[in-house]
Amino acid sequence: MLMIEHDVIIVGGGLAGSRAAVAIAQTNPNLSVGLISKVHPIRSHSVAAQGGIAAALKNVDAHDDWLTHAFDTVKGSDYLADQDAVEILTKSAAEVIIDLEHLGVLFSRAEDGRIAQRAFGGHTNSRACYAADKTGHAILHELVMNLLRLGTKVYQEWYVMRLIYEEGEVKGLVAYCLETGAIEVFKAKAVLFATGGYGRVFNTTSNDYSSTGDGLCLTAIAGLPLQDMEFVQFHPTGLYPVGVLISEAVRGEGAYLINDLGERFMGNYAISKNKMELSPRDITSRNIAQEIREGRGINGGAYVHLDVRHLGKEKIISRIPFAREEGMRMLGIDCIDRPLPIRPTVHYSMGGIPTNIDCQVIGVDSQPIAGFFASGECACLSVHGANRLGANSLLECVVFGKRSGEKVAEYASDRPMPKFDPTIYQREAESKNKKLLTHQGNTRIAELRQALQDLTTEHCGIFRDRTSLTEGLEKLQGLKHRYAEDLHLDDRGEVFNMELTAALELGSLLTVGEIIMTSALSRQESRGAHSRSDYPNRDDSNYLQHSLGYLDGNTVKTAFRPVNLSLQAVDRDRFTPQERKY
Ligand SMILES: Cc1cc2nc3c(=O)[nH]c(=O)nc-3n(C[C@H](O)[C@H](O)[C@H](O)COP(=O)(O)OP(=O)(O)OC[C@H]3O[C@@H](n4cnc5c(N)ncnc54)[C@H](O)[C@@H]3O)c2cc1C
Repeated sequence: MLMIEHDVIIVGGGLAGSRAAVAIAQTNPNLSVGLISKVHPIRSHSVAAQGGIAAALKNVDAHDDWLTHAFDTVKGSDYLADQDAVEILTKSAAEVIIDLEHLGVLFSRAEDGRIAQRAFGGHTNSRACYAADKTGHAILHELVMNLLRLGTKVYQEWYVMRLIYEEGEVKGLVAYCLETGAIEVFKAKAVLFATGGYGRVFNTTSNDYSSTGDGLCLTAIAGLPLQDMEFVQFHPTGLYPVGVLISEAVRGEGAYLINDLGERFMGNYAISKNKMELSPRDITSRNIAQEIREGRGINGGAYVHLDVRHLGKEKIISRIPFAREEGMRMLGIDCIDRPLPIRPTVHYSMGGIPTNIDCQVIGVDSQPIAGFFASGECACLSVHGANRLGANSLLECVVFGKRSGEKVAEYASDRPMPKFDPTIYQREAESKNKKLLTHQGNTRIAELRQALQDLTTEHCGIFRDRTSLTEGLEKLQGLKHRYAEDLHLDDRGEVFNMELTAALELGSLLTVGEIIMTSALSRQESRGAHSRSDYPNRDDSNYLQHSLGYLDGNTVKTAFRPVNLSLQAVDRDRFTPQERKY
C-alpha cells in the first residue's frame, strides 16, 4: 500500500508550526517537510492575536532586562512555570523579534523609529512589541510567505485523525482530505504537533471555531499524558455577550474597569490594589466574576464596563483600532462615546502536551518519546505554569517554534525512515468515518456540543469545587455514551463534509473536557487560574508540581511531577515561591 512520506511532518500552520517549518528549512534544506493544517495556514487562530509579543528590547524602559521578564513570568505563573524553560524564553526574546523583522514583519514604531512597546498585565516594564492591535496577522502572514518560499509542502484543509505510535516510537499519522474525503497514511521520521488550543470546550471563548484541542486528544488517545490541564485561562475582557476578545492592549493603553457603582473596582481588592487594571489575567478575571456574583455588574447583569473614553479619539483610533471596530461591528457601540460591556471569556490553554526544553514530548516517566515533538499552545513546556502573562504566548510560539524546528531537523537528519504496516491504520480510519456517516442515532452534533460546552462552563468555570466537578464528570459520561451510540449526521457525503469534521472535533472536545475536569479535581489547592472554592489557598508543600492526566482504558488517571526551579540558583530571593500581590 502506498503512503505519503516526509522526513518531518508538522501538524498546524499557526505561528508555532510555521516558525518551525522556516527553522527546519534553515537548519537542513535537504529535509522534506510536510505541513498539514485543517484550515488554510493563514486562517489558524494565531492570525487573530492582537495586543503584542513580549521582549525586553528596552526601547521604552531602558532598565528592562531578560531576568526581570523571567521573574514577571514566574510570578505570573504562580510559581508553577519550569524556570529552565522560562530562561530560554526570555533570554531569546530580543533575538527572535529581530529575526521576525528580517523575515519581513512590520512592527509599529516609536517616534525615534525603533520598535514601539506597550504595557501589558503582570509585566513590570513596557515590553510588548506590536503591529497596532493586529500583531498575529502581521507575523503569521510573513511566516507563511517564508515557508512557501522555502519549499515546505502544505496540505491545507486536511484533518489529522490518528497518531501512529507503536513500539515506543511515533512513526507517522493518518489524515483525511476535507475536499475529497480520501484517507491517507503518512510516514515520517518525526512528527511535530503545533495544533493550538481547545477554547471550544467551553461555551464562551475568544477562540476560533477550529480551536478544538485535536492534537491534545490524539496524544491522549495514543496513551501519552497531558500536563496541567486544569489551568484554563479566562481572559478578563470578552465582549458581552458574544465572548469575542477585546485585547489586553486596551488596558495597556490605559482603559478602566468600572462596576455598577461607577467604581474602578480593581482598587478594592488587596491583591490588585497597585497594578489595578494591569494585574495578571487570573486575578483580574476573578475580580470581575466576584463583582458580578455580588450584584455589582452593570444594572445587576452579568457584565462590567471597560471604559476608554478618557483616552481620547486620536489615541483610540491609532493604537486600538481593532477593539473599536469589534465593538461597533458586534454591538453597535463606538467606544469613543460609550463604555464596552465585558465579562471573562475562555482564552488560552496553559496545559498541554508535556515536553522538555528541546520540545521533545515526554511520557509519564519524563523520558522523551522517540520521533515526537510539540510546540506552541498545544505544548506544555511549561513557561506559563498556572497563569500565562499576555504577550508571552506569541513569544513562546516564536521562540519554541523555532527551537522545535531546529531540534526536529537535527533529529531527523540522521534517522532511518521507520517501518510499519499502514493497512490496519487505513482500515481503522475508514471504518471510523464510515460509522459516523452511517449511524442512525437521534442526537445532532450541535446539540451534543452545546450540552458539553454548557456543562464544562457550569461545572469547571472560574470557580470550581469537588461537588461541581464530580457532578460534571458524571454528566459527561452520559454525553460520551450518546456520542458513541446515538449520533446522527444529516450530511452523508464524502466531499467537503463539514459535519464529519465537526463530529471528529466533538470527539476531541469530549476527551479534552474530561481530562481538564479530572485534573481540576485532583489538584486540591488554588493556584493561578485554578480556583477551588473548597481549597482557597495555594499549597506549595503538596502541589508545587505539574499534574499529568492520561487515559487508562476508558477512564482518566492522574499523577504529578516536580517543577524545575533552576532560576532560584541565579536569584534566590526573587525566584523562591512567595505570596503574589500586584
Ligand atoms: C483572539 C486572540 C487574541 C490573542 N492575542 C494574543 C496576543 O496579543 N499576544 C499573545 O502572546 N498571545 C495572544 N493570543 C494567544 C496566541 O495567539 C495563541 O496562543 C497562539 O497564536 C497559538 O498559536 P499556535 O501556532 O500554537 O496554534 P494556532 O494558531 O491555533 O494554530 C493551530 C494549527 O493547528 C492546526 N490543526 C489543529 N488540529 C488539527 C487537525 N486535527 N488536523 C490538522 N490540522 C490541525 C490548525 O489548522 C492550525 O493551523 C491570542 C489568542 C486569541 C484567541
